[in-house]
Amino acid sequence: MYPYRCWVEISRCQILENFRNVRAVVGPSVQVIPVVKAEAYGHGLLEVARLLERDGAGWLAVSNVNEGISLRDAGINCRILVMGGLLTEERQSLFDYGLTPVIHSLEDLTETNEAARKRAQVLRYHLKVDTGMGRLGALESAEEICRAISQARHIQLEGLMTHFASSADYTSDQTEHQLRAFNKILNVIRQRGIEPKLIHLSSTNAVAYGRSSAWGNLVRVGHALYGYVSAAQGPAPTPILRVRPALSWKARILTVKDVPEGTCIGYNAMYRTPRRTRIAVVAAGYADGYPHQLSNRGKIIAAGALTPILGAISMDVMTIDISQAPNLKAGDAVTLLGSEGDLSVDAQHIAQLAGTISYSVLCGIHPRVKRIYI
Ligand SMILES: *Cc1c(COP(=O)(O)O)cnc(C)c1O
Repeated sequence: MYPYRCWVEISRCQILENFRNVRAVVGPSVQVIPVVKAEAYGHGLLEVARLLERDGAGWLAVSNVNEGISLRDAGINCRILVMGGLLTEERQSLFDYGLTPVIHSLEDLTETNEAARKRAQVLRYHLKVDTGMGRLGALESAEEICRAISQARHIQLEGLMTHFASSADYTSDQTEHQLRAFNKILNVIRQRGIEPKLIHLSSTNAVAYGRSSAWGNLVRVGHALYGYVSAAQGPAPTPILRVRPALSWKARILTVKDVPEGTCIGYNAMYRTPRRTRIAVVAAGYADGYPHQLSNRGKIIAAGALTPILGAISMDVMTIDISQAPNLKAGDAVTLLGSEGDLSVDAQHIAQLAGTISYSVLCGIHPRVKRIYI
């Protein structure tokens, strides 16, 4: 037993196995960039980065410059792709820390070129085109993009990329549209004699559902590393990627008591016991990142059984019904996310009940929840 109220256990082996499975699926001609933004989706930026670098990752992808700086300060030497856009004042750090930016607009391209000219320092960049995501990425015509690339003589185009909006949605042809739009731009760029070394469009879902025409020679994979693939919509092929969750989330029981029939539990008396009930108060609440939406609805695993959450989830605690597991006592651990025996609750189950997505559940696990690596 760990001496903590609430913690997550993260399996290094499982992350490595997931990474290797991704690499096996895309094959040797396609590189894999592990995405470790947002504290590696709650799994811990530095731990996961070190693990993957040791396992041969040549690149890591983060969202912002600060995450890139944290990696460099921790001694990470591999290439680092900063995907989530740049503020003007963040640009110098690209040079200072050897980070590779994704450039999202032609203005950004001009400014970065100007910064490189002033510093007389070479910088490689990846250019993102908006093929239908409607978020970051250049929307200009292929001709305008080519002109801007050619004019930016102080920086080097290393990669051309885009990002899919709906790659697990087989009721929509948006991914095919985006792929065609991307290839059109790529062809024009190539006709002008510009050859980006790295071509990347796909993240987890496009890998897992085998959209191999969209893999280019690099894929950016986050969710799958941590053991998840989004459920598909519509007539999707069976996923070709097998991954398993690397994280389980536990908390200790603070107290156990028997309450009489008709007892109100928690804020706003959302639950009233229909009979004499044994309850346990568990040391995890919404401040730890457990979604408040699961008040009176969620289930956790206690003593190997699915156990209902009673009443409102509080900031620091939740109450569960342990009438079926009367031997549980203060200090025992329960599983909020993970498996015990044959039972399992994963981030997708929690997300579905909470009306959100598994990404948000994982990223929402608060820093005060102790991370333990096994
Ligand atoms: C977060 C992100 C990814 C990784 O997506 P997953 O679905 O977690 O694999 C890939 N590319 C970009 C641009 C991203 O922002």
